[in-house]
Amino acid sequence: MTLRAVSATRLFDGHTYYQDSALVWEGQTIISIVPLEKLPPNIEHQHFEGALIAPGFIDLQVNGGGGVMFNSDISAAAMGTICEAHRAHGTAYLLPTLISSTPEDLSQALSSLQQAKQQHIPGVLGVHLEGPWLNVDKKGAHNASLFYAPTAEQLAQFPWPKEGKVLVTAALEKIDVSALEYLKQVGVTLSCGHSNAQIAQLTEQKLSLVDGFTHLFNAMSPLEGREPGTVGAALKTDHAWCSIITDGIHVHPDSVHIASKIKPKGKLLVVTDAMASVGSENNSFVLDGEVISVKDNKLVNSRGSLAGAHIGMDQSIANLIAWGFAEEEALRMASTYPAQALACHNLGLLRPGMTAAATILNADYQTTGVLVDGKLF
Ligand SMILES: [Zn+2]
Repeated sequence: MTLRAVSATRLFDGHTYYQDSALVWEGQTIISIVPLEKLPPNIEHQHFEGALIAPGFIDLQVNGGGGVMFNSDISAAAMGTICEAHRAHGTAYLLPTLISSTPEDLSQALSSLQQAKQQHIPGVLGVHLEGPWLNVDKKGAHNASLFYAPTAEQLAQFPWPKEGKVLVTAALEKIDVSALEYLKQVGVTLSCGHSNAQIAQLTEQKLSLVDGFTHLFNAMSPLEGREPGTVGAALKTDHAWCSIITDGIHVHPDSVHIASKIKPKGKLLVVTDAMASVGSENNSFVLDGEVISVKDNKLVNSRGSLAGAHIGMDQSIANLIAWGFAEEEALRMASTYPAQALACHNLGLLRPGMTAAATILNADYQTTGVLVDGKLF
């Protein structure tokens, strides 16, 4: 194997900044970070002047991209198209996300993940099943006629994969403890979302089983004085991460700051919840037979309800920084923290021995390159 390198004016490893330095890797593995002048002259090397190299962005919630909705094409090839579209926006890895579907389609998504892994499709980290185990009162753009409360026996019918990560979003109040325990047993990362719970329904036992909360503030019972709701539980449960959409439309910037002040460091992370319109010329697409269109940068259905986001990871980070977040924290919210949320111990930092995965941004936080498993795009 040969050594390869990328270098830039600034490099952030997830912890420390380096000036005029290079990231060196061999195969899929990071070897070192070295000052540019110490880079061996014969090494295959690309320099990005004025740019910043950061740990590769990881997006836990991507419904589509490049004109493709995962719900409409639940195949390994579609996963590849979606990953490619989001690489243009800095995302190294993502979870193609299936919005509430039939049990057959859920099985298809899990089987397609196995295929994507066998075919080594770059960027596919796993799948996110968002529903159909949700609360009809917080259905958002989901088709509530598909919702049900699963038993552990029903869950055992699905082809849970051995390889790749599976994230499940379920409304904790709509799923019983034995079913939650089953999901944990098969290695699922469990997130509470599309939930209209009162705090009393979110028992300590259920909260101990949950790893995170999906798109904090959106499709959740709000925090009120007498009733903390699902938002209150999400903010109070220290061990659980919260994903948040930072397009400036789904959540007010001040609410993002408030969440950041409350959650322990590392437990607030960015997702895009992006749809097929990202990385596509097409401004509308179909979800469950309904046309969703981009209007003033918002994605709305025919009733005017928000239906996902029209944004990439790079712009999500740029927004956080414009709202006053430190650059290093914004970058970690898109890389280090989502890696930790999925227990991907080889991702999220630029350290020797870890996977060679990086996002390269220009001075305006636009993507100029993405490194995935040692392959530079
Ligand atoms: Zn959702």
